Amino acid sequence: MSSARVIDGKAVAAQVRADIAKKVEALKSAHGFTPGLAVVLVGEDPASQVYVRNKGQQTKEVGMNSIEHKLPAETSEADLLALVENLNNDDSINGILVQLPLPKHINSEKVLNTINPDKDVDGFHPTNVGRLWVGEPALAPCTPTGSVILAKSVQENLTGMNAVIIGRSNIVGKPMAALLLRENCTVTVAHSRTKDIASVVKGADLVIAAVGIAEFVKGDWIKPGAIVIDVGINRVEVPGGKAKLKGDVDYAAAAEVAGAITPVPGGVGPMTIACLLKNTLQAAQMQRGLEITA
Ligand code: NAP
Repeated sequence: MSSARVIDGKAVAAQVRADIAKKVEALKSAHGFTPGLAVVLVGEDPASQVYVRNKGQQTKEVGMNSIEHKLPAETSEADLLALVENLNNDDSINGILVQLPLPKHINSEKVLNTINPDKDVDGFHPTNVGRLWVGEPALAPCTPTGSVILAKSVQENLTGMNAVIIGRSNIVGKPMAALLLRENCTVTVAHSRTKDIASVVKGADLVIAAVGIAEFVKGDWIKPGAIVIDVGINRVEVPGGKAKLKGDVDYAAAAEVAGAITPVPGGVGPMTIACLLKNTLQAAQMQRGLEITA
Protein backbone atom coordinates (compact mmCIF):
# COMPACT_ATOMS: atom_id res chain seq x y z
CA MET A 1 0.00 0.00 0.00
CA SER A 2 1.41 3.31 -0.98
CA SER A 3 1.34 5.98 1.69
CA ALA A 4 2.85 8.95 -0.14
CA ARG A 5 0.82 11.87 -1.36
CA VAL A 6 0.81 11.76 -5.15
CA ILE A 7 1.78 15.13 -6.60
CA ASP A 8 -0.54 15.84 -9.53
CA GLY A 9 1.63 17.59 -12.12
CA LYS A 10 -1.27 18.02 -14.53
CA ALA A 11 -3.33 19.89 -11.93
CA VAL A 12 -0.42 22.09 -10.80
CA ALA A 13 0.46 22.86 -14.45
CA ALA A 14 -3.17 23.84 -15.10
CA GLN A 15 -3.01 26.24 -12.12
CA VAL A 16 0.23 27.77 -13.45
CA ARG A 17 -1.35 28.26 -16.89
CA ALA A 18 -4.50 29.79 -15.39
CA ASP A 19 -2.34 32.24 -13.43
CA ILE A 20 -0.38 33.14 -16.59
CA ALA A 21 -3.61 33.64 -18.57
CA LYS A 22 -4.80 36.18 -15.96
CA LYS A 23 -1.49 38.03 -16.05
CA VAL A 24 -1.44 38.08 -19.86
CA GLU A 25 -4.95 39.56 -19.81
CA ALA A 26 -3.79 42.20 -17.30
CA LEU A 27 -0.82 43.07 -19.56
CA LYS A 28 -3.12 43.46 -22.53
CA SER A 29 -5.52 45.77 -20.75
CA ALA A 30 -2.88 47.86 -18.94
CA HIS A 31 -0.26 48.08 -21.70
CA GLY A 32 -2.07 47.07 -24.89
CA PHE A 33 0.30 44.36 -26.02
CA THR A 34 0.27 40.59 -26.31
CA PRO A 35 3.42 38.56 -25.58
CA GLY A 36 4.60 36.40 -28.50
CA LEU A 37 6.49 33.11 -28.50
CA ALA A 38 8.29 31.92 -31.63
CA VAL A 39 9.03 28.21 -31.90
CA VAL A 40 11.42 27.01 -34.59
CA LEU A 41 11.34 23.41 -35.75
CA VAL A 42 13.87 22.07 -38.25
CA GLY A 43 13.07 18.71 -39.83
CA GLU A 44 10.36 16.16 -39.20
CA ASP A 45 11.25 14.36 -35.97
CA PRO A 46 7.84 12.97 -34.89
CA ALA A 47 8.36 13.58 -31.14
CA SER A 48 9.49 17.16 -31.80
CA GLN A 49 6.43 17.77 -33.99
CA VAL A 50 4.17 16.72 -31.10
CA TYR A 51 6.04 18.95 -28.62
CA VAL A 52 5.86 21.94 -30.97
CA ARG A 53 2.14 21.40 -31.58
CA ASN A 54 1.45 21.21 -27.83
CA LYS A 55 3.53 24.29 -27.16
CA GLY A 56 1.66 26.27 -29.85
CA GLN A 57 -1.74 25.18 -28.56
CA GLN A 58 -0.99 25.99 -24.92
CA THR A 59 0.58 29.34 -25.87
CA LYS A 60 -2.69 30.36 -27.55
CA GLU A 61 -4.77 29.03 -24.65
CA VAL A 62 -3.11 31.46 -22.23
CA GLY A 63 -3.80 34.33 -24.64
CA MET A 64 -0.31 34.79 -26.09
CA ASN A 65 0.67 34.87 -29.76
CA SER A 66 2.22 31.66 -31.06
CA ILE A 67 4.44 31.90 -34.13
CA GLU A 68 5.71 28.65 -35.63
CA HIS A 69 8.57 28.39 -38.11
CA LYS A 70 8.77 24.93 -39.65
CA LEU A 71 11.86 24.51 -41.76
CA PRO A 72 12.95 21.55 -43.89
CA ALA A 73 15.62 19.16 -42.50
CA GLU A 74 18.13 20.36 -45.12
CA THR A 75 17.97 24.01 -43.93
CA SER A 76 21.51 25.40 -43.71
CA GLU A 77 23.01 26.59 -40.46
CA ALA A 78 23.43 30.07 -41.99
CA ASP A 79 19.71 30.26 -42.85
CA LEU A 80 18.71 29.14 -39.35
CA LEU A 81 21.05 31.70 -37.77
CA ALA A 82 19.55 34.40 -40.01
CA LEU A 83 16.04 33.46 -38.87
CA VAL A 84 17.11 33.62 -35.21
CA GLU A 85 18.62 37.08 -35.83
CA ASN A 86 15.34 38.23 -37.42
CA LEU A 87 13.40 36.99 -34.40
CA ASN A 88 15.91 38.69 -32.07
CA ASN A 89 15.16 41.99 -33.84
CA ASP A 90 11.37 41.55 -34.02
CA ASP A 91 9.64 43.49 -31.20
CA SER A 92 6.48 41.38 -31.46
CA ILE A 93 8.50 38.30 -30.41
CA ASN A 94 9.32 38.09 -26.70
CA GLY A 95 10.44 34.47 -26.51
CA ILE A 96 12.38 32.28 -28.96
CA LEU A 97 12.62 28.51 -28.67
CA VAL A 98 14.58 26.37 -31.11
CA GLN A 99 13.34 22.80 -30.76
CA LEU A 100 16.11 20.27 -30.13
CA PRO A 101 17.51 18.01 -31.48
CA LEU A 102 18.65 19.88 -34.59
CA PRO A 103 19.85 17.99 -37.68
CA LYS A 104 23.48 16.85 -37.38
CA HIS A 105 24.88 19.37 -39.91
CA ILE A 106 23.80 22.27 -37.63
CA ASN A 107 25.84 23.29 -34.58
CA SER A 108 23.18 23.46 -31.84
CA GLU A 109 25.39 25.37 -29.43
CA LYS A 110 26.05 28.08 -32.01
CA VAL A 111 22.33 28.43 -32.71
CA LEU A 112 21.30 28.54 -29.02
CA ASN A 113 24.04 31.06 -28.28
CA THR A 114 22.76 33.33 -31.07
CA ILE A 115 19.39 33.75 -29.36
CA ASN A 116 19.17 37.09 -27.55
CA PRO A 117 19.48 36.07 -23.84
CA ASP A 118 16.50 38.30 -23.01
CA LYS A 119 14.36 36.16 -25.36
CA ASP A 120 15.96 32.82 -24.40
CA VAL A 121 12.89 31.20 -22.83
CA ASP A 122 14.62 27.80 -22.62
CA GLY A 123 17.20 29.39 -20.30
CA PHE A 124 20.10 27.58 -21.98
CA HIS A 125 22.14 30.64 -23.04
CA PRO A 126 25.37 31.03 -20.99
CA THR A 127 24.26 34.56 -20.06
CA ASN A 128 21.12 33.18 -18.41
CA VAL A 129 23.11 30.41 -16.74
CA GLY A 130 25.38 33.09 -15.25
CA ARG A 131 22.47 35.33 -14.25
CA LEU A 132 20.83 32.39 -12.50
CA TRP A 133 23.97 31.54 -10.49
CA VAL A 134 24.72 35.12 -9.45
CA GLY A 135 21.11 35.70 -8.44
CA GLU A 136 20.10 38.26 -11.09
CA PRO A 137 16.65 38.04 -12.70
CA ALA A 138 17.15 35.21 -15.19
CA LEU A 139 15.20 33.00 -17.54
CA ALA A 140 15.77 29.60 -15.91
CA PRO A 141 15.38 26.24 -17.68
CA CYS A 142 11.76 25.04 -17.69
CA THR A 143 12.02 21.49 -16.33
CA PRO A 144 13.93 22.40 -13.16
CA THR A 145 11.67 25.42 -12.63
CA GLY A 146 8.64 23.14 -12.87
CA SER A 147 10.21 20.62 -10.49
CA VAL A 148 10.73 23.30 -7.84
CA ILE A 149 7.11 24.46 -8.20
CA LEU A 150 5.97 20.85 -7.62
CA ALA A 151 8.14 20.51 -4.49
CA LYS A 152 6.70 23.81 -3.22
CA SER A 153 3.18 22.57 -3.87
CA VAL A 154 3.85 20.11 -1.03
CA GLN A 155 5.91 22.37 1.21
CA GLU A 156 5.82 26.09 0.43
CA ASN A 157 9.06 26.84 2.27
CA LEU A 158 12.01 24.59 1.34
CA THR A 159 14.49 26.45 3.56
CA GLY A 160 17.00 24.20 5.29
CA MET A 161 15.99 21.03 3.49
CA ASN A 162 18.70 18.60 2.46
CA ALA A 163 18.16 18.32 -1.29
CA VAL A 164 19.89 15.62 -3.31
CA ILE A 165 19.82 15.98 -7.08
CA ILE A 166 20.87 12.92 -9.05
CA GLY A 167 22.22 14.10 -12.40
CA ARG A 168 24.37 17.09 -13.38
CA SER A 169 23.26 17.89 -16.92
CA ASN A 170 23.12 21.47 -18.14
CA ILE A 171 19.39 21.25 -18.79
CA VAL A 172 18.25 19.64 -15.53
CA GLY A 173 20.74 18.84 -12.74
CA LYS A 174 22.90 21.97 -12.70
CA PRO A 175 20.12 24.58 -13.01
CA MET A 176 18.14 22.60 -10.41
CA ALA A 177 21.05 23.08 -8.01
CA ALA A 178 21.03 26.85 -8.59
CA LEU A 179 17.24 27.05 -8.11
CA LEU A 180 17.29 25.00 -4.91
CA LEU A 181 20.13 27.11 -3.49
CA ARG A 182 17.86 30.11 -4.10
CA GLU A 183 15.24 28.29 -2.04
CA ASN A 184 17.81 27.98 0.78
CA CYS A 185 18.18 24.20 0.50
CA THR A 186 21.45 22.47 1.35
CA VAL A 187 22.21 21.03 -2.06
CA THR A 188 24.12 17.89 -3.03
CA VAL A 189 24.55 17.02 -6.70
CA ALA A 190 25.20 13.31 -7.28
CA HIS A 191 26.33 11.82 -10.59
CA SER A 192 27.84 8.71 -12.15
CA ARG A 193 31.06 9.02 -10.11
CA THR A 194 29.33 9.49 -6.76
CA LYS A 195 30.34 6.88 -4.17
CA ASP A 196 27.62 4.99 -2.31
CA ILE A 197 24.78 6.92 -3.88
CA ALA A 198 22.20 5.03 -1.80
CA SER A 199 23.49 6.54 1.44
CA VAL A 200 23.73 10.00 -0.13
CA VAL A 201 20.06 9.79 -1.16
CA LYS A 202 19.09 8.43 2.27
CA GLY A 203 20.07 11.78 3.82
CA ALA A 204 17.72 13.73 1.55
CA ASP A 205 14.52 15.50 2.60
CA LEU A 206 14.04 16.32 -1.09
CA VAL A 207 15.16 13.94 -3.84
CA ILE A 208 15.32 15.08 -7.47
CA ALA A 209 16.01 12.21 -9.85
CA ALA A 210 17.30 13.23 -13.31
CA VAL A 211 19.41 10.27 -14.33
CA GLY A 212 17.81 8.85 -17.46
CA ILE A 213 17.81 5.25 -16.15
CA ALA A 214 14.42 3.61 -15.50
CA GLU A 215 13.76 2.89 -11.80
CA PHE A 216 17.35 3.74 -10.84
CA VAL A 217 16.40 5.10 -7.41
CA LYS A 218 15.26 2.28 -5.12
CA GLY A 219 12.57 2.48 -2.47
CA ASP A 220 14.95 1.70 0.38
CA TRP A 221 17.14 4.70 -0.56
CA ILE A 222 14.32 7.07 0.37
CA LYS A 223 14.19 8.71 3.80
CA PRO A 224 10.73 8.27 5.34
CA GLY A 225 8.60 11.34 4.60
CA ALA A 226 10.89 12.75 1.90
CA ILE A 227 9.55 14.64 -1.12
CA VAL A 228 10.51 12.80 -4.33
CA ILE A 229 10.48 14.58 -7.69
CA ASP A 230 11.07 12.21 -10.59
CA VAL A 231 12.24 14.01 -13.73
CA GLY A 232 13.01 10.84 -15.67
CA ILE A 233 11.14 9.85 -18.81
CA ASN A 234 12.27 6.42 -19.97
CA ARG A 235 10.55 4.36 -22.64
CA VAL A 236 10.66 0.75 -21.50
CA GLU A 237 9.69 -2.13 -23.77
CA VAL A 238 7.13 -4.45 -22.22
CA PRO A 239 7.30 -8.04 -23.57
CA GLY A 240 4.45 -8.58 -26.01
CA GLY A 241 2.99 -5.16 -25.25
CA LYS A 242 3.37 -1.48 -25.98
CA ALA A 243 6.34 0.48 -24.60
CA LYS A 244 5.65 2.02 -21.17
CA LEU A 245 6.94 5.27 -19.72
CA LYS A 246 8.92 4.84 -16.51
CA GLY A 247 10.57 7.39 -14.28
CA ASP A 248 14.04 7.31 -12.74
CA VAL A 249 12.53 6.18 -9.42
CA ASP A 250 11.08 2.78 -8.53
CA TYR A 251 7.71 4.41 -7.97
CA ALA A 252 5.80 1.61 -6.20
CA ALA A 253 8.56 1.00 -3.65
CA ALA A 254 9.39 4.68 -3.11
CA ALA A 255 5.73 5.61 -2.65
CA GLU A 256 5.62 3.29 0.39
CA VAL A 257 8.22 5.43 2.16
CA ALA A 258 8.09 8.94 0.72
CA GLY A 259 5.90 11.72 2.07
CA ALA A 260 5.05 12.89 -1.45
CA ILE A 261 6.06 11.72 -4.92
CA THR A 262 5.51 12.66 -8.57
CA PRO A 263 4.23 9.95 -10.90
CA VAL A 264 5.55 9.31 -14.43
CA PRO A 265 3.73 10.24 -16.57
CA GLY A 266 1.69 13.07 -15.02
CA GLY A 267 4.32 14.61 -12.74
CA VAL A 268 7.15 16.82 -13.97
CA GLY A 269 6.29 16.34 -17.68
CA PRO A 270 3.24 18.65 -17.81
CA MET A 271 5.13 21.37 -15.91
CA THR A 272 7.72 21.93 -18.63
CA ILE A 273 5.45 23.70 -21.14
CA ALA A 274 3.67 25.61 -18.34
CA CYS A 275 7.07 26.97 -17.27
CA LEU A 276 7.94 27.83 -20.87
CA LEU A 277 4.83 30.06 -20.92
CA LYS A 278 5.83 31.52 -17.55
CA ASN A 279 9.26 32.34 -18.98
CA THR A 280 7.69 33.96 -22.06
CA LEU A 281 5.56 36.21 -19.86
CA GLN A 282 8.59 37.02 -17.70
CA ALA A 283 10.68 37.79 -20.82
CA ALA A 284 7.95 40.13 -22.13
CA GLN A 285 7.77 41.95 -18.78
CA MET A 286 11.56 42.28 -18.58
CA GLN A 287 11.82 43.58 -22.16
CA ARG A 288 9.19 46.26 -21.44
CA GLY A 289 10.75 47.26 -18.12
CA LEU A 290 7.63 46.16 -16.23
CA GLU A 291 7.41 44.53 -12.84
CA ILE A 292 8.00 40.76 -13.11
CA THR A 293 4.86 38.97 -11.95
CA ALA A 294 5.35 35.72 -13.92
P1 NAP B 1 21.62 13.39 -19.16
O1 NAP B 1 22.11 14.61 -19.84
O2 NAP B 1 21.83 12.07 -19.78
O3 NAP B 1 22.26 13.38 -17.69
C1 NAP B 1 22.10 12.28 -16.84
C2 NAP B 1 22.84 12.51 -15.57
O4 NAP B 1 22.69 11.36 -14.77
C3 NAP B 1 24.35 12.75 -15.76
O5 NAP B 1 24.79 13.84 -14.98
C4 NAP B 1 24.96 11.43 -15.29
O6 NAP B 1 26.20 11.58 -14.62
C5 NAP B 1 23.95 10.94 -14.29
N1 NAP B 1 24.04 9.49 -14.21
C6 NAP B 1 24.03 8.58 -15.22
N2 NAP B 1 24.20 7.34 -14.74
C7 NAP B 1 24.32 7.45 -13.41
C8 NAP B 1 24.52 6.54 -12.35
N3 NAP B 1 24.64 5.22 -12.58
N4 NAP B 1 24.59 7.00 -11.09
C9 NAP B 1 24.47 8.31 -10.83
N5 NAP B 1 24.28 9.25 -11.80
C10 NAP B 1 24.22 8.82 -13.06
O7 NAP B 1 20.06 13.49 -18.86
P2 NAP B 1 19.09 14.76 -18.68
O8 NAP B 1 18.92 15.44 -19.98
O9 NAP B 1 19.50 15.54 -17.49
O10 NAP B 1 17.73 14.00 -18.36
C11 NAP B 1 17.57 13.17 -17.22
C12 NAP B 1 16.23 12.49 -17.29
O11 NAP B 1 15.21 13.47 -17.26
C13 NAP B 1 15.97 11.69 -18.57
O12 NAP B 1 15.17 10.56 -18.26
C14 NAP B 1 15.18 12.63 -19.45
O13 NAP B 1 14.34 11.97 -20.35
C15 NAP B 1 14.37 13.34 -18.41
N6 NAP B 1 13.93 14.70 -18.80
C16 NAP B 1 12.61 14.99 -18.59
C17 NAP B 1 12.13 16.25 -18.91
C18 NAP B 1 10.70 16.57 -18.63
O14 NAP B 1 10.12 17.43 -19.24
N7 NAP B 1 10.07 15.89 -17.69
C19 NAP B 1 12.97 17.21 -19.46
C20 NAP B 1 14.32 16.89 -19.62
C21 NAP B 1 14.79 15.62 -19.28
P3 NAP B 1 27.57 12.04 -15.36
O15 NAP B 1 27.43 13.52 -15.54
O16 NAP B 1 28.62 11.66 -14.39
O17 NAP B 1 27.62 11.29 -16.66
